[in-house]
Amino acid sequence: MSFPTIKRVLLKLSGEVLMGNQQFGIDPEFVAELALEVKAAKETGLEICLVIGGGNIFRGMAGAAKGMDRAQADYMGMLATVMNALAMQNALEQCGVPTRVQSAIEMDKVCEPVIRRRAERHLEKGRVVIFAAGVGAPYFTTDSGAALRAAEMKCDALLKGTSVDGVYDSDPKHNPDAVRFDTVTYDRVLADNLKVMDASAVALCRDNKIPIVVFSIREKGNLARVLAGGGVQTIVQDS
Ligand code: UDP
Repeated sequence: MSFPTIKRVLLKLSGEVLMGNQQFGIDPEFVAELALEVKAAKETGLEICLVIGGGNIFRGMAGAAKGMDRAQADYMGMLATVMNALAMQNALEQCGVPTRVQSAIEMDKVCEPVIRRRAERHLEKGRVVIFAAGVGAPYFTTDSGAALRAAEMKCDALLKGTSVDGVYDSDPKHNPDAVRFDTVTYDRVLADNLKVMDASAVALCRDNKIPIVVFSIREKGNLARVLAGGGVQTIVQDS
């Protein structure tokens, strides 16, 4: 796929990709590599918004499954996304990319609150904006946060960088015959419950006509390849 008209993207990274080869937490070396990928993408002239999950540290569902109150556990998950955002900001600024973090849960000692117009200004000035804490409410995920920010920032596409190279008709980890889609519609994703993003995120992208590009961020250089129209990916769109 080529993106001739793409000027602004939202890149969503699941928290897990920040672990590198660890089982938990943040691997600074791997975050530094990711930052270089983002830098390279930015140098092609793109405006970049980032959303990073928190699954490498804490997921509300996991806490709830062990008896925690779901909302309380979700707030912990949101705080985890702020830690990841700060780690990525550190890595980006160490490679010379000015970055601002805006959190949906206000934390004025460490970052800005989410203010759309201010985020616009940052992008105009060539800064990367990292949106943290999802939508700022429990019972959501950072996928929904990513779709929401992509819509309000009028992004031309939502790029979901994950550990698989696209969307399959069944789980490729369990079914060796699983087939990857090059393109698939939002409606099929929702009807077949394909594992792309949660349903509210997919519906928000569908209603706002934001294509979702699912690709593997684990392979070096893949973000640039996908943006240049190469690489392996699945595009979720209208038809
Ligand atoms: N979370 C939430 N509301 C949001 C975004 C995130 O409650 O708007 C919590 C939720 O508990 C979630 C955790 O933060 O499990 C980490 O986010 P997510 O699971 O989306 O991270 P990822 O799987 O992308 O690493």
